[in-house]
Amino acid sequence: MDTIMGGSKSIEFGADLIKKGEIVAFPTETVYGLGASAYNEDAVKKIFIAKGRPQDNPLIVHISSPIDAIEIAKEIPDEAYVLWEMFSPGPLTLVLNKKSIIPDIVTAGYQTVGIRIPNNEIALSLISKSGLPLAAPSANLSGRVSPTEAIHVYKDLNGRIPLIIDGGRCNIGIESTVLDLTKNTPTILRPGFISPEQIAERIGNVINHKGDIVRVESPGMKYSHYMPICPCVSALTTGSACELYDKNENAVILGTNSFIESCGNRAVVSLGDTPDDCMKNIFKALRDSEESFSYIIVESFKDKHGYFALNNRLSKATKGITY
Ligand code: AMP
Ligand code: MG
Repeated sequence: MDTIMGGSKSIEFGADLIKKGEIVAFPTETVYGLGASAYNEDAVKKIFIAKGRPQDNPLIVHISSPIDAIEIAKEIPDEAYVLWEMFSPGPLTLVLNKKSIIPDIVTAGYQTVGIRIPNNEIALSLISKSGLPLAAPSANLSGRVSPTEAIHVYKDLNGRIPLIIDGGRCNIGIESTVLDLTKNTPTILRPGFISPEQIAERIGNVINHKGDIVRVESPGMKYSHYMPICPCVSALTTGSACELYDKNENAVILGTNSFIESCGNRAVVSLGDTPDDCMKNIFKALRDSEESFSYIIVESFKDKHGYFALNNRLSKATKGITY
């Protein structure tokens, strides 16, 4: 079998190899990556060996949707969701605090992990088909120029890896911007296709890779965009929502039917059952509630599948205050 393969069969084959603990080169929109299951220490070791990469250089973990990040990272800040909504899939890697499911070898011993959603159909489908996040550096011998065509990978790594999936030439051709969101002020660790200004426009001040602060007058993340005129907070459970309700005068609880059904005779507003229902109803519910009540408690959708856009708006409405 040839090392370089194209087409859907190559993705199936690649996904099988990944599941078996092998390493596979695949295209992304930035450069070709050399991927292994980010959960499999032995598989990740093979990447370092094939590339001759020093073990103190961390790998980026590639996922196919922001939801996948919940398995890998803890304390995902609102800024991450705002940036994913704007720039993902795309050439932006976010550094977040890691969960222990990610072995230290992936992150070179750091307690943080770089996460990215590549904007390339083959890469996304390889991740989904293998059902695993892929730890992947660029698919070149360590120290060599990053590969932007399958043939570049072949020249460096033929004989060292079982498969190179050919997806043609990489659209962007330089590596992702790496942004550390674990610092007090978000900090660019590596410049890339997405500029500090583009990031600052969404989330406010950013420190660029030279250590200078990039300031913006009006970040698009301004909380006041979605802010009701009375206090508004979110609650993770019906129990904490009811507790808040009882402590505050003239309060109301907004949530999905399953969330509000055990609120007794407290004032509630239903947002419906599904993410689509909630998105359709949320702004009206907030507007109606601020007219009749003086304290709004909304169900928190943080980290819940399908509620990514809604959570982004609610984090602004509640200034990120969650009980
Ligand atoms: P490569 O994929 O070969 O471009 O290399 C990945 C690069 O991403 C590393 O060299 C670091 O600059 C950066 N990176 C990945 N994970 C982390 C992390 N946890 N902390 C800091 N930087 C990271
Ligand atoms: Mg590299």
